[in-house]
Amino acid sequence: METFKFTRAQNSRGAIAEAATVSGSKFLAGGTNLIDLMKLDIELPRQLIDINKLALKQVENAPNGNVKIGALVTNADLAYHPQIKERYTVLSEALLSGASAQLRNAATTSGNLMQRTRCPYFYDTAFACNKRVPGSGCSAIQGYNRMNAVLGTSDYCIATHPSDMCVAMAALGATIQVQGPKGERSIPFADFHLLPGKTPQLEHNLKPGELITSVTLPPLPAAAKSHYLKVRDRASYEFALTSAAVVLDMQGNTIRTARIALGGVGTKPWRSLAAEQALAGKIASEQNFRNAAEIAMAGAKPYKDNAFKIELAKRTLVRALITTGGIA
Ligand code: SF4
Repeated sequence: METFKFTRAQNSRGAIAEAATVSGSKFLAGGTNLIDLMKLDIELPRQLIDINKLALKQVENAPNGNVKIGALVTNADLAYHPQIKERYTVLSEALLSGASAQLRNAATTSGNLMQRTRCPYFYDTAFACNKRVPGSGCSAIQGYNRMNAVLGTSDYCIATHPSDMCVAMAALGATIQVQGPKGERSIPFADFHLLPGKTPQLEHNLKPGELITSVTLPPLPAAAKSHYLKVRDRASYEFALTSAAVVLDMQGNTIRTARIALGGVGTKPWRSLAAEQALAGKIASEQNFRNAAEIAMAGAKPYKDNAFKIELAKRTLVRALITTGGIA
């Protein structure tokens, strides 16, 4: 591990001001990903700013029926918060399917948004990786790529986005609030994470020195009838092979609107507006769900070891829709 300056901020403004004093500063919250990456010399911040004293640990009602989640709310506290369990079931389920109990107690909402891929070549500095060293090549494309993505990939990177929480937030249409040297702004969830394109080292829409302060969930009565289904190699402490976050607004057996996002298959949390549109106004039936799943995965590109994910993702989505829609 390289040497770095360590500071502890007392408030958001202080954290942002401190970040402006050293280029290459990083904010430290739970540290469940960042510290691992620092130990491996993959992340080399010149300054680490501990933000754990910031007053960003509340889940609270916000104007217009929104729910505001502080950036430092832990994954465990968010998953078990009564409002989240009752009003946004899909988010609670997604959080509880991620990592381990110990990690969920430490990991934060903003850290989860910022976590980096678990592509094994990204973590092994003996291998070429465009995300770690831009221009060095991608070892996964010709290498072992069973866990890699099939949607949103490029010739430069096929790394899967690892988060479960983010898949649920994508389906819910969350908004991310940030504060930086030039003030505050909101970022729609769909615009926060970037596709790899030719620059896989750029993963999000934060500008230098910007700090995530909260995530806002819209009022969405249908989200009380929602579900997150994750398929993985073992029952706990494992990343998704495939996952689906589903929200259905039903009138009787008819779907008024659907919200659908997929995990484990995309280079970013993968909301499928086309699949949602295909279900709007349709009867909740397995055939209609299967049609939507075909649409959701229409652009998928398989690699040597991960073609199975395409059919698995379709079945995951169909099963999540069946469970949410309450059909036999
Ligand atoms: Fe690196 Fe992305 Fe290729 Fe993995 S898939 S080796 S993270 S460039």
